[in-house]
Order: sequence, then C-alpha cells, then structure tokens
Amino acid sequence: MIEDFDAVIIGTGQSGPALAGRMGEEGLRVAVIERHLFGGTCVNVGCIPTKTLVASARAAHMARRGSEFGVMIDGQVRVDMAAVKARKDRIAGESNTGVTKWLESMANVTIFRGHGRLTGPASVEVGDETLRAPRIVLNVGARALVPELQGLGDVEYFTNSGMMEVDFLPDHLVIIGGSYIGLEFAQMYRRFGSRVSVIEQGDRVIARDDEDVSHAVREILEGEGVDIHTGAKCIAVQAEGTGVAVSLDCVDGPRRVVGSHILLAVGRQPNTGDLGLAEAGVATDSRGYIQVDDQLRTNVDGIWAIGDCNGRGAFTHTSYNDYEILAANLFDNDPRRVSDRITCYGLFIDPPLGRAGLTEAQVRASGRRALIGKRPMSRVGRARERSETQGFIKVIVDADSQEILGAAILGVNGDEVVHGLLDIMYAKAPYTVISRAVHIHPTVAELVPTVLQELKPLE
Ligand SMILES: Cc1cc2nc3c(=O)[nH]c(=O)nc-3n(C[C@H](O)[C@H](O)[C@H](O)COP(=O)(O)OP(=O)(O)OC[C@H]3O[C@@H](n4cnc5c(N)ncnc54)[C@H](O)[C@@H]3O)c2cc1C
Repeated sequence: MIEDFDAVIIGTGQSGPALAGRMGEEGLRVAVIERHLFGGTCVNVGCIPTKTLVASARAAHMARRGSEFGVMIDGQVRVDMAAVKARKDRIAGESNTGVTKWLESMANVTIFRGHGRLTGPASVEVGDETLRAPRIVLNVGARALVPELQGLGDVEYFTNSGMMEVDFLPDHLVIIGGSYIGLEFAQMYRRFGSRVSVIEQGDRVIARDDEDVSHAVREILEGEGVDIHTGAKCIAVQAEGTGVAVSLDCVDGPRRVVGSHILLAVGRQPNTGDLGLAEAGVATDSRGYIQVDDQLRTNVDGIWAIGDCNGRGAFTHTSYNDYEILAANLFDNDPRRVSDRITCYGLFIDPPLGRAGLTEAQVRASGRRALIGKRPMSRVGRARERSETQGFIKVIVDADSQEILGAAILGVNGDEVVHGLLDIMYAKAPYTVISRAVHIHPTVAELVPTVLQELKPLE
C-alpha cells in the first residue's frame, strides 16, 4: 500500500517525538515509524534507567557509610538486585509509557510499528507499506559498538542494553572501555557488591577530558575498590571455567583479568546500516554517521538527520536541541544552528562531573591568552559537611574578552552547579558577572565566584 504524508519521521528518540508534535500542530500530516521501544535509548536503555541504578548504588554506598555520620545500621547492608531492577523498570517504564501516550495523542500523527527504510529521496518503506513525503527526518540513534576483539565471538557479553535485564549480582564484572558509560556501570556495580575491573586501551580513563579530571575520576573509583587497567593495547577474550578471561596485551601473561561477566562499553555506532541511505543518496562519513550541515540538512533536499545519528552530538540534550533547531528553521523563520551550541555533558559517577565548553587542553592548543581558577572540593564547605571532598572546581577564562571558555566541576552537585557557568557562556557575558555575584551559603555554587576572584594566568 502507498500512503502520502507531509512528513515522515523514522525513529522516536529524543527529538523525533517532539518534532512530530510540532509538525502535527502546524497542520502537517506526519507518519512516525518506530521499530522497537518509543523513547529510544535514553528512556529505555540509557540515561533514565542508568541514573535510576546509580541512585540505588548511592543508597547502598551511603548505607555502608552510615556509621561515619553517626547512623548505625545493625547487620549487613545487602542489595537485592531483583528489587533494584524492578525499581529501574518501573521508573523507566513510566517514561516509556509517557512518550507512548504522548505520541498516540498527537494531532495529525500516524504511528507505524516496524523498521523504516528509505527507498528513494521521498519514500520510506515500513512492512508492506510505502510512505511518500516531501520531508523525511531521520532520528534513528545509535547502539553499542561491538569491536572486533579476538575471541569475542566465543563468549557471552553484555552491552548497555543487556545490562538492563540483569537482576543478579555478577561476581566479577569486567568492563571493557573506560569512558562515560563504562565508568558509570563500574561504580554502580562495585557499590552493589560486585568485584569490578575496567580495561581501557588508552593511557587514561575518559581520555577526552583533561588529565587532572581523568586522574581524579580514577582516584574516586579506585578508592571504592574498582580495579582499573589502562594501556590495554590489544584486548583478547576467552572462556575460562564458568567465566571469561580478558588478556590486555593479546598474550597470556600477567596482564590478564578473569571475571564472571563482561560488559562492552567501547563506544557507539549509528543505526544507519540498514536505513536505505544509498537508495536515497544520503551521504555518511566513514563511520556511518549521516552528514548534515549546520541546520541539520543532509545532502539530499527534504531529508534531515537529528540526534546521535548525525554525529554532531551524543547526548539527550544535543538530540533535543537538534529538534529545536530544525523546528525553528522549518516553522519560526529563526535560523538556529548547531554551531550555536556549547558543548556540555555530565559523567554521572558519584560525585558527578559537570563539563561545559572547552577543556584546558583545548584552550592551550588554541594558543589564546587565558586565565585559570581551580579549587579542590576539600575547600568547599558543602562538600566537607557531606564528607564528600573528592574532586575540584576548574574554570578557564579568556584573558582578553573575559568570557568563560570552559569549566569542569567534579564533585558534589557538579552536574548542577556547572549550569551557572554555562548560562553566562551563552550570554557571552564577562566572568565578572559571576565573580561579583552573591551566592547562597553553604552551597558548592557559592565558591564559584571565589574561584573567579582568584584567577591566575594559564601558563
Ligand atoms: C548507558 C547509556 C547512558 C546514557 N546516559 C546519558 C545521560 O546521562 N545523559 C545524556 O544526555 N545522554 C546519555 N546517553 C546518550 C543518550 O541516550 C542518547 O544520546 C540519546 O538517546 C540520543 O537519542 P536519539 O534521539 O539520537 O535517538 P535514540 O534515543 O537512540 O532513539 C532512536 C530510535 O530510533 C529507532 N530506530 C532506529 N532505526 C530505526 C529504523 N530503521 N526504523 C524505525 N525505528 C528505528 C530505535 O528503535 C530508537 O527507538 C546515554 C546512553 C547510554 C547508552
């Protein structure tokens, strides 16, 4: 059957549903195609479930630390993984139901369940149907990258998706990949009670961040008993007993970890392989990310790509911002652009990292004159009151324009506090707006003006 629409959206990640709603409100007849769960990665196997698990892990951690605060828990703290999973399923399930009901209630929107595939520049096939439209928007997201590791085909492993089904405590979880997803799982499973080893091929964890951030994050995790192995230049796996052995240098030798389960967390891969991009003439880069311009247009007229699949962001907030950019351009005569966006993200270990703008390394590489302020959390009252003094506040300012170039806040509430700096960056206001501001005592944010009053030249 052939059906005509004004627009077809493939995928219901973090931007597709909002765009469908807006298009419907504008009077366009919209077809939305989803092959799996409404809400995509973030809602079902990403942000929401993992942060729900992080919260359970923190509860276990604080229960064990109770006596430090004068809170006595008689008997051993025990984690019921089935209950942890049930809580996660309930909370993520509510979000999934919310997106589903929202989509189903949208005016002018028809939902198709199945795999959508382009058959030309203005047509998509889903099941037995062909949908034709002058506007096609791809919001197909990404999935865990499964690398070609020696022996991987012969052992069982988890990715972030499979981990969502775990309702038991792995004896020893070996996580391959020391970046954001891997480290969040590492701390959470350590706190649940597993032995955890992280294997990273680079010389340090979260290598895209500054060395001092990597170092402090490693210290936090190692302080809780996570084993971290960096510089694993050649990783190979093989079954051993009831578990699995991971060799770090592709040879049997001392650099070998034997665990009960493996989690692969080595990056993401766009869901573009079976999307019919070639039939429609849509260009990708060598890793399969759909190439878009600053306003999210692909090289084919009438086809846009939003969210992780365009490689311009890898977060829920960047995907949602893609929706805002596209809607502004399509309907509001407002030429918003991807390049207006300032990089920001969180690493949700505990305490968390909030990052905005450039890293120190990027500022140094840019060669501009800059100022830096840094304060350890051990000199932040709120952190000391909570006995959580790991991490630091670091802010970098352009010495000439006085604008804030970047910030990293690793520590209590760092993921929230960083937004004060981010907003000033968007305002393109000088750092003195913050350094002269009065913040509430006793908070972490109250020390941000102090950091900015103590700036020194970035040597
Ligand atoms: C473990 C984990 C934790 C994360 N934590 C965070 C976090 O804390 N904060 C944050 O900002 N980001 C986080 N992310 C990243 C975040 O989940 C993604 O950036 C976000 O979901 C991107 O959404 P999207 O709109 O690109 O598409 P997705 O959410 O990936 O959704 C794409 C949808 O398209 C569907 N689809 C794909 N191909 C087709 C097809 N051909 N036909 C029909 N349907 C199709 C899929 O089924 C899916 O529902 C995390 C990711 C992971 C894996």
